[in-house]
Amino acid sequence: MKLTSAVLLGLASLSTGAAVAAPASPVLVIHGGAGVERGDLDAEEMRAARSALEAALRKGHEALAAGRPALDAVTAAITVLEDDPSFNAGRGAVFTHDGKNELDASLMDGASLRAGAVAGVHTVKNPILLAREVMEHSPHVMMIGQGAEMFATERRLEQVDPSYFRTEKRWQQLQRALREEAAGQAHADLETAKHFGTVGAVALDAQGKLAAGTSTGGMTNKRYGRVGDSPVIGAGTYASDGCAVSGTGWGEFYLRLAAAHEICARMKYLGETPAQAGEEVIVKGIPALGGDGGAIVLSADGRAATPFNTQGMYRGWIGADGVPHVAIFEDEALALPGQ
Ligand code: ASP
Repeated sequence: MKLTSAVLLGLASLSTGAAVAAPASPVLVIHGGAGVERGDLDAEEMRAARSALEAALRKGHEALAAGRPALDAVTAAITVLEDDPSFNAGRGAVFTHDGKNELDASLMDGASLRAGAVAGVHTVKNPILLAREVMEHSPHVMMIGQGAEMFATERRLEQVDPSYFRTEKRWQQLQRALREEAAGQAHADLETAKHFGTVGAVALDAQGKLAAGTSTGGMTNKRYGRVGDSPVIGAGTYASDGCAVSGTGWGEFYLRLAAAHEICARMKYLGETPAQAGEEVIVKGIPALGGDGGAIVLSADGRAATPFNTQGMYRGWIGADGVPHVAIFEDEALALPGQ
């Protein structure tokens, strides 16, 4: 029999007679962004998005099943979603006002509270991998723009021509946003403001450790230098020894609420479950300020929540049995672990 860490933990408790905490059952939860509405997707786009979510879950699960750390599962899942044009991260990222793709990403290791983040990169194929390099191979937490790209070159990360990220669908979304803006519509009414599509993952590994990560192109029509919540530790991403969160939505509001950290703080200090803390911050707090979006939340005892206040959020999870579960719209049931 192959000795997995779970078996070893079990043996340790038998031999010492000591009360050893039950080994965690690994879980991975992902999102591909809030804000999606039924009319946004044709049947083929819906099929493509679901199959990309499943592929990302399987890839992350491979890491967890091999006994690798939660951080590996988060990175593996997000890399698949960055490479898939269905989502607003990596290839398929939204365009800035000036017609560029500017990418942001971050990740955090819950047990050590180490974190890495990048913002405003144009040539790094997988920004989440660069965020991880920042965490593991620099004394810093966050690098931006040209400096981050120089670091990517130094670390020999794959770099691409900026045109790699372009998709026609995102380009047309920018054109629509520019027309709406020219017609004087307020930001809150903009059709394009609803189209998010950021990606994120939270995982619990067999050692009971948590990690979280998020990657995005930001928001369509964002101005030069705009950075949202996704690469900001505490706003779009947070992980501790008790909680892991990745957010998606109108970033300015997530920044103002320090949303990801706020969810973890509520769980830690008020004893709330992921579902309760998610409800307070995402379903009540963000809309109370005028924002919208969603999040995925995972606790150290394997309870998950996927709160959102939009019509849909691409989301899914996979547990020890390796069967992926995915959903897109509000009315689709998704029986989450621990719910
Ligand atoms: N939160 C991201 C941002 O504001 C957008 C998203 O979630 O799609 O940059």
